[in-house]
Amino acid sequence: MPKSAPNPYRLLPAVEEVLSSEALAPLLERQPREQVARFVGQVLDHWRAEIKAGDLDADTLEARLGEGALVRQTAQRFEREAKSGLRRVVNAAGVVLHTGLGRAPIHPDAAAAMERAARTYGTLEVDRFSGQRNQRDERLGELLVRLTGAEAGIAVNNCAAAMLLLLNTFSHGRETIVSRGELVEIGGSFRMPDVMSRAGAQLVEAGTTNRTRAKDFASAASERTGLLLKVHTSNFRVVGFTEEISVTELADLGQEFGIRTAFDLGSGRLEADGTPLAALADEPSVQAAVRSGVDVVCFSGDKLLGGPQAGLIVGRREAIRELRANPIYRAVRLDKVTIAGLESTLGLYLAGRAAEVPSRRMLELTLEELRPVAERLARSLSALGEFEAQVVEDASQPGSGSAPDVLLPSPVVRLRSGLRSAEALAKALRHGEPAVFARIQADELVLDPRTLLSGDEERLLTAFAALVASGDGDTTRAGA
Ligand SMILES: *Cc1c(COP(=O)(O)O)cnc(C)c1O
Repeated sequence: MPKSAPNPYRLLPAVEEVLSSEALAPLLERQPREQVARFVGQVLDHWRAEIKAGDLDADTLEARLGEGALVRQTAQRFEREAKSGLRRVVNAAGVVLHTGLGRAPIHPDAAAAMERAARTYGTLEVDRFSGQRNQRDERLGELLVRLTGAEAGIAVNNCAAAMLLLLNTFSHGRETIVSRGELVEIGGSFRMPDVMSRAGAQLVEAGTTNRTRAKDFASAASERTGLLLKVHTSNFRVVGFTEEISVTELADLGQEFGIRTAFDLGSGRLEADGTPLAALADEPSVQAAVRSGVDVVCFSGDKLLGGPQAGLIVGRREAIRELRANPIYRAVRLDKVTIAGLESTLGLYLAGRAAEVPSRRMLELTLEELRPVAERLARSLSALGEFEAQVVEDASQPGSGSAPDVLLPSPVVRLRSGLRSAEALAKALRHGEPAVFARIQADELVLDPRTLLSGDEERLLTAFAALVASGDGDTTRAGA
């Protein structure tokens, strides 16, 4: 009679048994017992699933256990956990306002102000001169007024919250008219029609996808209309036979019909001395939007402004007062740390120091300024032996949906490795310490110097040196 195949499930040890094994003792000295037990359990569960799927037989499992894979994989889970969460990365992808990498890196003064606000008590809602309670964003509002020319300003968590607040305030139980061509999705779960319905506003579309005129808005307007809205279609463009209602026309219509008007600018380019952001000249500026006469304009704090995450709303005094009176404002208002960072960032603009805002500086860097960095990088990377590095002219992107058709000419380093594919290289860099995010183009790894911060060149080289030292791909196989 043939011997029946051994049952692999029987070979899986119990968690308790593993915990009392000698091999696990060093890990137990460093980590709490419950956490070790949890990860041992996870590894065993994973193996159990492999057996169930028919991917792991008794012989292979026995070999695995024999060579200490259980302890090793448990330890790897600790290593991976230590590297998870929000960690510093080197952005060599060349996308300045990279949403996945946290958009704008803020000015050191703003960061210092944020740290101070977090660690200490502060005048958040008291006026130190009168001793009276005041609004937490009073100073912010004043800075916004001086910078944008609006009558008043208010700040909330992000531009999505600003939209929710203004749709709910001006159009709850009423209609909001928007051009059909501007019903955009901005990022993963932010679709204009969805936000509108959640805000209690009823959507009325005007015009067609490619053409909307003022008279389309005029004929859609009625006594049920609460808001005429214009949305900057940040992340896409309709080209060809197109026509859109201008913000001035929208403002005029609102005046004529006595209906509130709003312009969601999104990226919000603030005009500032010294940094014209010439490449982004086609992005509507906040000041121009205010001048158009629309009641309120909203824009993000962490896109072209270059500050911490926030949604800024500026406009007519009366309209801002209404927004402030809405209980939703209380739910989406800013915390003291962000207020400190924003006050500091806007202060830089007011002091004529906008050119110091890191993301603005990155957006203005020229080919001539970047070439020496690219060449230095290429030389150092070539010296590591594994790579063939070449400097070629390419383009970076502003990012976060700002001006998708604007490309910023950049000299980049194109890397080729004899040992691994561009994909494997990019993955190893993401797993490395410090993590590096590069871009892949035509099956080659591309490093863009535009988005490197002070010290990043050294960090990048450290990461590459570690990667080369680790051999031909072990790091690429550890985990997904
Ligand atoms: C980015 C963007 C938003 C969302 O801004 P967040 O600050 O990310 O919430 C809203 N509207 C437009 C037009 C945008 O470009």
